[in-house]
Amino acid sequence: MITSHKAHGLILPYPLQGHINPMLQFSKRLQFKRVEITIALTKSVLKKMKELPSSVSIQAISDGYDDGGIDQAKTYEAYLTRFKEVGLDTLSQLIQKLANSGCPVNCIVYDPFLHWAVEVAKKFGLISAAFFTQNCAVDNIYYHVHKGVIKLTPSKNDEEILIPGLSCTIEMMANQFSNLDKVDWVLINSFYELEKEVIDWMSKIYPIKTIGPTIPSMYLDKRLHDDKEYGLSIFKPMTNECLNWLNHQPISSVVYVSFGSLAKLEAEQMEELAWGLKNSNNNFLWVVRSTEEPKLPKNFLEELTSEKGLVVSWCPQLQVLEHESIGCFLTHCGWNSTLEAISLGVPMVTMPQWTDQPTNAKFVKDVWEIGVRAKQDEKGIVRREIIEECIKLVMEEEKGKLIRENAKKWKEMARNVVDEGGSSDKNIEEFVSKLVTIS
Ligand code: UDP
Repeated sequence: MITSHKAHGLILPYPLQGHINPMLQFSKRLQFKRVEITIALTKSVLKKMKELPSSVSIQAISDGYDDGGIDQAKTYEAYLTRFKEVGLDTLSQLIQKLANSGCPVNCIVYDPFLHWAVEVAKKFGLISAAFFTQNCAVDNIYYHVHKGVIKLTPSKNDEEILIPGLSCTIEMMANQFSNLDKVDWVLINSFYELEKEVIDWMSKIYPIKTIGPTIPSMYLDKRLHDDKEYGLSIFKPMTNECLNWLNHQPISSVVYVSFGSLAKLEAEQMEELAWGLKNSNNNFLWVVRSTEEPKLPKNFLEELTSEKGLVVSWCPQLQVLEHESIGCFLTHCGWNSTLEAISLGVPMVTMPQWTDQPTNAKFVKDVWEIGVRAKQDEKGIVRREIIEECIKLVMEEEKGKLIRENAKKWKEMARNVVDEGGSSDKNIEEFVSKLVTIS
């Protein structure tokens, strides 16, 4: 007798929203291809998030810090060690519980910061897949650090040699490669056309499949019915304020500014940015998280007219990037933000801060040619004149024409790769067909 079993993927993200959201979007693509999905989230994340997604099943697990999660631990190392100790058990218990649900788990997709999940997969005889939320080029750097080929020396002077900027978290980043020789799949939130060379090279070492961009389908191929829901956030977006304001702005006229959910700018940098934006000819929408707001120059908000700019504590970024009034994105180049800008065809002015951001910025400028980098001075500050100059180049000047045209081309490409038969769609299809066991 031939029985077709339904595949059931247990998704284990690292509990930060920039890691949870791409895995959530990927989960929706798997569900679309009829895979059952359960996402395991830590208890503290579940408490913190403003809204939970309705489209997938979520189960709580313990990381050993049920009240405060990562913020409760003294260091990342302490957090990861405790999560491993507790997680080996709590993840196993969850798998056992789901075994009685009528559709047992047959695969774990885990964030490689939690590489011990492979041991749990092996114990239960499950397929294991590591899901890297960074792009392949950055993963390749971490791989070389992991292998000891690249040695790191901490330094602030890291304009073109970018690895020193990774120093504070580098061990954690490189450790993502632990256990990777034991996994069945390595999934990467990128797409083949973006970084062919490095993907071809890495594919000789690991079973790599690119599955991105992980953006809701409604912004791309529109195959998933009504899939607009972005995911989890600890911040509440000021949706109406932003969209109403943007609706009154001319086409391609607005600079959208955001440094993501974690980056902290120095007060001097905030001041330079504020004046750079004010002095540029363009209106701006600037996301300043409430913890960053005290660093704004004195009277900046009071003196800002609503014709010139809007400052909000959080926005619905995809809806903003999709809006026709947006002319460029001044970004810290977090990978999610970069991939969202690529997918929605928005040219960038980059001001990377740490970890993978300088490398992403380099690719934006030199490889994909969809933006410029606003350079720091010797004190590590990007000055107002540079910010103004970069915005003008990307938004208005003839010199920025190629950048604007390239951004449109990559938008088209991003849609095609997830649409039926595109490179990422084929990879997801291949992954799903391996999950469905026929006996
Ligand atoms: N984001 C958002 N609203 C904002 C600012 C950011 O929804 O006002 C989202 C953005 O769309 C992206 C994520 O937050 O998905 C930031 O992730 P990224 O990797 O760019 O940066 P991180 O926060 O990890 O530094």
